[in-house]
Amino acid sequence: MAVNEKITCDICGVQKGEANHWMLWTTEFFVPGPQGEIGGVRFAPWHRDLYRDYNHLCGESCAGKLLAKSVAEWREIAELSRCIPSGESHDSKVMTARSH
Ligand SMILES: [Zn+2]
Repeated sequence: MAVNEKITCDICGVQKGEANHWMLWTTEFFVPGPQGEIGGVRFAPWHRDLYRDYNHLCGESCAGKLLAKSVAEWREIAELSRCIPSGESHDSKVMTARSH
């Protein structure tokens, strides 16, 4: 059933047509400890019963771009977390890593 809704890629903004190399993605939060959470990314194949609940990518190349963007963010988080002494209770000004 072709519903007349506009689905666009979250990375390049292209509008979805009939061709289907599309996939779904969502953020997932990993909580390594009491000092905050790390925003991860999850990919899934396109599914007509699921796509309304997730974000959209037009294909593998945009999935790659999203991953590259996330990796760049994770690198910053890794650098920040290196400054926080582990196992200590200096948790007054902990950076909460949260991606948007
Ligand atoms: Zn795209």
